[in-house]
Amino acid sequence: MSGVRTRPHGAGEAGAGGWEPRMGQMTKMARTSDLEFGGPLGALVLVALLPCTVLYLLLACRTEAASVLNNPLPQLDPSQLWDPAALILVLAWFALQSVLYLLPLGKVTQGMPLWDGTRLSYRINGLHAVVITALLTAVGTACGLPLAHVHDCCVQLACVCILTSLALSVLLYARSLCVPEAALAPGGNSGNPIYDFFIGHELNPRIGNFDLKYFCELRPGLIGWLLINLAMLMKEWELQGSPSLAMLLVNAFQILYVFDALWHEEAVLTTMDIVNDGFGFMLAFGDLTWVPFTYSLQAHFLVSHPQELSPTGAVAIILLNALGYYIFRSANSQKNTFRRNPGDPTVAGLETIPTATGRQLLVSGWWSLVRHPNYLGDLIMALAWSLPCGLGHALPYFYVVYFTALLIHREARDEHLCRRKYGSAWSTYCGRVPYRIFPYLY
Ligand code: NDP
Repeated sequence: MSGVRTRPHGAGEAGAGGWEPRMGQMTKMARTSDLEFGGPLGALVLVALLPCTVLYLLLACRTEAASVLNNPLPQLDPSQLWDPAALILVLAWFALQSVLYLLPLGKVTQGMPLWDGTRLSYRINGLHAVVITALLTAVGTACGLPLAHVHDCCVQLACVCILTSLALSVLLYARSLCVPEAALAPGGNSGNPIYDFFIGHELNPRIGNFDLKYFCELRPGLIGWLLINLAMLMKEWELQGSPSLAMLLVNAFQILYVFDALWHEEAVLTTMDIVNDGFGFMLAFGDLTWVPFTYSLQAHFLVSHPQELSPTGAVAIILLNALGYYIFRSANSQKNTFRRNPGDPTVAGLETIPTATGRQLLVSGWWSLVRHPNYLGDLIMALAWSLPCGLGHALPYFYVVYFTALLIHREARDEHLCRRKYGSAWSTYCGRVPYRIFPYLY
């Protein structure tokens, strides 16, 4: 059953943060001392800045110039920001995704060992959720559901999601003050309320079997991103008489990406988001607002800025996306297979470096090219998603720029955690694989 904690088989693996798991023996949870994002001040600035950025991008996307440095600034009429219908729509969406999450479909698996040596169970049914959502959308659209209207009320929907993310983060922080120390996040236990509110104070907040962080990571925002893209396609269809090749490519690439994430849903259980970070503003806002509204900017842009894409250009972009996807998927699968079963024939022949924890680090195959080949593939795909929007505007490239910054920062966070976990073995690995993400560059 989801939500049941069970003892792991074998010794606890090194945690990603400031804690030392010991089987059957509780040690004290250390305070988070390495503060990221510029500490409490940086966290405060981000809480204010990120929602403004989402609104700014959405408004800029609708102007003719569609410039990131719009001059004059996009007009902001406060009466346009609030619409009760948008609130109802967003709540209905969250309710639908919650029901799908609770369906007894798919297998139940265990997460990484927690501070006290226990593991939480998770139901893996994201793919069921997206397929059922797609069927419901198809039926709804056939019955006259005005999906294209999402384009018209996108700003109001974003406002509701911003408020929902904020309200959820406040509730999560308030709740975290009442839970036992063992439930806190290694990365979000600094003792500073602003910082802990931002990173997330409680590691795995659950209501019964309902894991709030896990649900938000892969469901309402990620599937919502696809729905917004589809709404943009419908809007373009309504305006132009047919969807453009550029719009079809953007939709197809991003459908592939989201389906891939849900097909490999189990892999999210080993990410630092689940293992190290708590559930606070950073993930709540990122999952529920940032992902659906900024990741869909290319499709949004294309509605009011149609692009002519030549067949040759389209083929080149498809090949670029295929290359990125190939690197991204093979690198992730190689590491995941190796972590699950190092004796698997597909990875058994790879060269490795032993570490004091008993785990090994791959030093051949994709993981000898750069220290994060999966990030490299992801960034190549990001470029392929923006190219259908042409080269005339910077705004559709916001995702590429933001994602590069995100992955460089994420790489630094992971590097820090791995150095702490693996010590000298990590230094040996870095000596063997000197580049982080871009071969011969970085
Ligand atoms: P990784 O999947 O790269 O995981 C990093 C972990 O892998 C390390 O902590 C370490 O953990 C293990 N590892 C590192 N090097 C090696 C090695 N040589 N051999 C074996 N294990 C190694 O990072 P993420 O979780 O950040 O990313 C997962 C995917 O999600 C990536 O493809 C990324 O691009 C994507 N992503 C997408 C985002 C989006 O918004 N679209 C946001 C963030 C990520 P351990 O040793 O404990 O196993």
